[in-house]
Amino acid sequence: MEWLFSGLTSLVVFILGACIGSFLNVVIYRIPAGLSLLFPPSRCPSCLRRLKNYDNVPVLGWLWLRGRCRYCKTRISVRYPLVEAATGLLFVWVFWTFNLPLPALGYWAFLSWLLALSLIDLDTMTLPNSLTQSGLIVGLMFQVGVGWMNAPTLAGISHQLMTGILGAVIGLWLFDLITIVGSMVFGQTAMGGGDAKLAAMMGAWLGWKYLLLASFLACAVGAFVGGGRSPSDSSTAVSPCPLVHSWHSVPSSPPSLEK
Ligand SMILES: [Zn+2]
Repeated sequence: MEWLFSGLTSLVVFILGACIGSFLNVVIYRIPAGLSLLFPPSRCPSCLRRLKNYDNVPVLGWLWLRGRCRYCKTRISVRYPLVEAATGLLFVWVFWTFNLPLPALGYWAFLSWLLALSLIDLDTMTLPNSLTQSGLIVGLMFQVGVGWMNAPTLAGISHQLMTGILGAVIGLWLFDLITIVGSMVFGQTAMGGGDAKLAAMMGAWLGWKYLLLASFLACAVGAFVGGGRSPSDSSTAVSPCPLVHSWHSVPSSPPSLEK
């Protein structure tokens, strides 16, 4: 019976994640374009007709439309169902890794912010302030929650909050260091201001220890994947994470269908 319960729980968590992923698709498309997240409802940017509710079902909607708009048959990027499925899988992974409601909720939010920022960075090479700054605030709120869960005293909560604040500050310093070393080695500053805010945001969520660990892993993987490419051709904004940076070398255009 236990496997049935685990399976059903995973399915429910996956569906929740896929629905959040569907919303992330909207965030990724609309925030850089300066559009409202809520109005108008999902529609095809080509023929502007509203999507039917059942076409909006994560992953499945794309499958039964066979990747095309119901009305004008414009292609819908496969990235939409992929983002939904990936978010669903990440949610399931976080759920079984953390087991406790608050950390799971916190890391669901963190991964959602990271996913949206990574794909916006990939599409537009910018990191919107509205997302990095709200992510930083929510990250610090998460630390307050963790502090309250661990030791519901003022001292316990402020200790945990300090971990997040220290993480944010070290994120900024680390970013400065990368920029300084980068400009000494390559003779140019290759990073945009949004990247510093991303580093601070990640520090707020992870605390300084895990931030350093994550930076180290990102650099190791980035060095391996990127193979010593020089940071950016010119003045474009580049993320502190070389892994994200290495994506920039892949030519890409934003998917064609708003959802
Ligand atoms: Zn259409």
